[in-house]
Amino acid sequence: MKPESLMMSYGYKPSLSEGAIKCPIFQTSTFVFHNAMEGKRFFEVAYGLREKEQDEELGLIYSRLNNPDLEILENRLCLWDEAEDCAVFESGMSAISTVMMEFLSPGDAILYSKPVYGGTDHFIHHFLKKMNIGHVGFYPGESKETIKNRIKEMGMEGKVKLIHIETPANPTNTVIDIEMCAQLRDELSTEDSRVVFSVDNTYMGPVWQHPLKHGADLVLYSATKYIGGHSDVIAGACLGSKELMARVKGLRTFFGNMAGPWTGWLLMRSLETLKVRMDKQAENAMHVAAFLNQHPKVEKVYYIGNTAQFGSAEEKAIIEKQCSSYGAMIAFDIKGGEAEAFRFLDSLKLIKLAVSLGGTESLAEHPQTMTHADVSPEDKATMSITEKLVRLSIGVEYYGDLIADIANALETV
Ligand SMILES: *Cc1c(COP(=O)(O)O)cnc(C)c1O
Repeated sequence: MKPESLMMSYGYKPSLSEGAIKCPIFQTSTFVFHNAMEGKRFFEVAYGLREKEQDEELGLIYSRLNNPDLEILENRLCLWDEAEDCAVFESGMSAISTVMMEFLSPGDAILYSKPVYGGTDHFIHHFLKKMNIGHVGFYPGESKETIKNRIKEMGMEGKVKLIHIETPANPTNTVIDIEMCAQLRDELSTEDSRVVFSVDNTYMGPVWQHPLKHGADLVLYSATKYIGGHSDVIAGACLGSKELMARVKGLRTFFGNMAGPWTGWLLMRSLETLKVRMDKQAENAMHVAAFLNQHPKVEKVYYIGNTAQFGSAEEKAIIEKQCSSYGAMIAFDIKGGEAEAFRFLDSLKLIKLAVSLGGTESLAEHPQTMTHADVSPEDKATMSITEKLVRLSIGVEYYGDLIADIANALETV
């Protein structure tokens, strides 16, 4: 069955919860063992002292290690990406920073695509640097050879232990070939040191792009965005093979940055409508992009649907291979500069002026002075993050109302 058919029931046994059709919120810190032997056996499995027996399920111990609301949510999230295991975190940044801390050690380096999420960028440039972990950045469209030469030039040969990318890149929707990065991972790996390759898939959510299928080792989400989808919860997730996830979950246990039961419950509720919400958002985005494409006050529209039509042969091939939808994120250059962009943003009525993305309500923001304020001037110039750029996250409203709101706001400019 398709994941959307299973999101209401998968992994949950009503008989264990008085017949309740929905998984209750297990707001509890600890769980009572039937007897001492059971407690002993649960701990043996939890701490890896012995393998689980066939059909043996890890018993519930303590909510930092496991809780039904998290475990069922994690099992459901696995379905979308066809992952072996999943760990849910209290935020997207928590998932990303835990992965970086687990797979990088002092003296190593991280190879990452530009631009990455501002929080990720900050973590790489400040915290990892403080830990004596180097970094090498690359831009969408650069070849493996160019990237390898840069690693050499920067004196990082043999040091790269983690590759981390975001595609499509926020805010201008440039795409990166996941398979190319997987090849790069293989070429940079040695027999005794395998490089790990993670993809932050927040921008396409679990419905429209599946990085694990294209060779990524780990897929990361800010579940705050499409997965939560209602702008009411902060959470994150990481998915991958059992082997790598055992390491991620191990560190999560000791950082204690798992999500709580209430967050798990909210996200399970969100997952039931994930597919319908995202389908509707993508359909709305298509209408909005078509409107922006022909508007005289709009200079350029950054939308995957446009790239799929007018992009280079390489870009088209990447989109064809990786993306099953053009998504619901659009950016555009308004004719003029900051004054015109701000005038537009301040005139919107239905669309809210706020950062974040992927929720049911449409949002608009100004990347240069808001989400990407921290990006260096050179990188901003290379990545078309200028004062005339506006970013839109398209929600589930009636698209005619969204277009009317945008048309009115453009009228005031
Ligand atoms: C929002 C976001 C994050 C951070 O997630 P939080 O849940 O806010 O911690 C990471 N990556 C991307 C691409 C994001 O959009």
